[in-house]
Amino acid sequence: MIAMPKVIIDAERCKSCLLCVEFCPRGVLEVSEETNERGFHPVVMGDEERCTGCGICALMCPSVCIEVHR
Ligand code: SF4
Ligand code: SF4
Repeated sequence: MIAMPKVIIDAERCKSCLLCVEFCPRGVLEVSEETNERGFHPVVMGDEERCTGCGICALMCPSVCIEVHR
C-alpha cells in the first residue's frame, strides 16, 4: 500500500492570504466557510486524494501554518 501524504493546516494561524491555494499544482486546497478566532476564513484540504505531498503549500505559507508529512 502506498502511504498518502498528510497535510496539516493550523487553522488558527491561517490569515487567508491564499498563496497556498494559488500555488498548489493540484488544486487541492480550499477556503473554509468557517472563520477562525481572528476572523479569517482558513484554508482546508479539499480532495486529499489529489495531493502529491509536494510541499509547495508549506513552502509558500508566510505564516508557516502548513506541515506536509510524507
Ligand atoms: S502538498 Fe502539494 S499537492 Fe498537496 S496540498 Fe500542498 S501544494 Fe497541494
Ligand atoms: S498560505 Fe498559509 S496563511 Fe496563507 S492561506 Fe495558506 S495556510 Fe493560510
